[in-house]
Amino acid sequence: MTLREELLHLKNESLGSITNASTVLELEEIRIEYLGKKGKIAEMFKKVPHLEDEEKIAIGKLANEVKIILENAFEDSKQSLTKKAYEQDVKNEEIDVTAPSIKPQFGRIHPVTQVVWELKEAFEKLGYQIMEGGEIETEWYNFTALNIPPNHPARDLQDTFWIDDIILPRTHTSSMQVRTMEKLKPPFKVAVPGWVYRCEREDATHASQFWHFEGFVVGKNISFSDLKGTLTLLMRSVLGQNSQLKFRASYFPYVEPCAEMSASCPHCNMKGCTACGGSGWLEILGSGMIHPKVLENAGIDPKVYNGFAFCPGPTRLAMIKYKINDIRLLTGGDIRFLKQF
Ligand SMILES: [Zn+2]
Repeated sequence: MTLREELLHLKNESLGSITNASTVLELEEIRIEYLGKKGKIAEMFKKVPHLEDEEKIAIGKLANEVKIILENAFEDSKQSLTKKAYEQDVKNEEIDVTAPSIKPQFGRIHPVTQVVWELKEAFEKLGYQIMEGGEIETEWYNFTALNIPPNHPARDLQDTFWIDDIILPRTHTSSMQVRTMEKLKPPFKVAVPGWVYRCEREDATHASQFWHFEGFVVGKNISFSDLKGTLTLLMRSVLGQNSQLKFRASYFPYVEPCAEMSASCPHCNMKGCTACGGSGWLEILGSGMIHPKVLENAGIDPKVYNGFAFCPGPTRLAMIKYKINDIRLLTGGDIRFLKQF
């Protein structure tokens, strides 16, 4: 058999095999046999250089033609076999539309998130810009810039998880005060919601991770009565219009004068119970007029501008609003409990 006859024979033989292949896998085996690196066509090409010049050209050309014909035939067959296999799969697949489905679990908006949303809406109605900051903060913005220098006893009240000597998870969103004041030109009203972290032994009223919603205002001739009016409006929008609120003098280094706000205890109707320690009141936030030092640290002239700041805790507010007596119920993620709200 001449080389030409051999080539034509190979072509017919392989085209026959391709036609008979019934699966893509089978087809691939045939392709390797003929077109693989060590396949029958490759073997033919090896013989070409040993031919006479004229024949070399003719046979080389023919071998190339055969190769292209086979490659096209393989590709066509592969496509048609893949399509056939898919159609067969669809045909074989039986769907029982009457089978019971997996019942989806319906969740609810977490009570703390509900309070955060309510506060956000109330802040926006009063013209506050809502801003967010990083949960990892520097010692400067979290403490020193807020008039809490190193070794100040107030730092002990906010013990936290230090990452190194200057980086820490923020202990309050007040850390955004100076950051924001550096960027904005007074007057401005800003509110900053977010997670904060404290190194706390967790119990019914303490968690190591909870929500803060810092609000602060800087402008000219701002008075303490502006602060009181704002807080009364904001807190009643969350706790209800009948909620009783009171101010009590307190101390935080970044505000002067400083006041804590308490709300009437919902558990006992102000008669006194274990939740409120018998007082009838539950503390909800700290607030006050921004300390001139804090304004100075942000590059704002305290002789021209003043302002107030306050920090309600949405977690605490949710506990009061929904009469929850253990903070762990809010942080535990138990859907059976959270479904009620
Ligand atoms: Zn009570």
